[in-house]
Amino acid sequence: MDQATYQQVGEKSQSPFRLDGQLALVTGGGTGIGLAIAREMLAAGARVVLTGRREQVLCEACDGLGEGAVWRTHDVTDYAGAGPLVAELERSLGPIDILVNNAGMHMKKDPLATGEEEFARVVETNIMGSFAMTRHCARSMVERGRGSVIFITSMAAMFGLPLVPAYSAAKSGMTGLMQSLVMDLSPRGVRLNAIAPGFIVTEMMRSAVESDPGRKARILARTPQGRFGDPVEVAHAAVFLSSPAASFITGVVLPVDGGMNMAF
Ligand code: NDP
Repeated sequence: MDQATYQQVGEKSQSPFRLDGQLALVTGGGTGIGLAIAREMLAAGARVVLTGRREQVLCEACDGLGEGAVWRTHDVTDYAGAGPLVAELERSLGPIDILVNNAGMHMKKDPLATGEEEFARVVETNIMGSFAMTRHCARSMVERGRGSVIFITSMAAMFGLPLVPAYSAAKSGMTGLMQSLVMDLSPRGVRLNAIAPGFIVTEMMRSAVESDPGRKARILARTPQGRFGDPVEVAHAAVFLSSPAASFITGVVLPVDGGMNMAF
């Protein structure tokens, strides 16, 4: 975004931290971190589209969010469906300004017992799903010379965590994907950034940690702020990175982790 556009958007919204007039698509937006991102983007003035595989979950999420939120069922591993979904949304709601690649799949399993097919499913959901959505959303972003894409990665992409080989590979792959896309798309007006959440209280985290009290204690001992995160804390970072306030920020991986990534 050039200086004039930055000022224009800033003046119109009063604050460069707002998203007035923008349309955001949040994959996996019906639950957890995705739902918090949708809620905070709405509060910042955007309209939001939530996607996911479970109709009932999305419907209830949108009811809770109220006006400005709509949903579509979409499995991010349905790569062929990504283009038609984006085209339909842009026809009915207007251009997508913000894409949040939040839909993700976790798998905690001993590497020696992990099969290639289940490994591939984790990679397909996290990396391939994000790529398909980004490719299709970025077409019109490039045409308009503006847009923001956020990838939700993980601490598993920053240091070694046991029992999550596929998840770590997939989240690291998302970082590499983001970095490469920055080189091709940021010269054409699209900013791409990643958020690496620490341990955030959601269903996914509960299922990964609750069954393992030792792991829970290790996480807390390694987190300088001494607690788990709340989805809204990730959402605030996503609003910032998508907003005009971040107009000169592209290609960063922002940890939202209570200091975990730099702790001994
Ligand atoms: P949730 O399980 O609440 O959210 C995952 C969401 O992704 C669900 O809404 C799910 O909806 C959707 N999803 C899963 N697979 C697909 C698919 N194939 N197509 C479309 N949507 C899909 O967990 P979180 O909110 O914790 O996770 C959100 C993101 O944050 C994930 O990428 C996760 O890896 C990441 N993350 C989470 C951390 C944490 O501590 N909670 C830490 C670091 C990263 P549905 O099943 O209906 O499709």
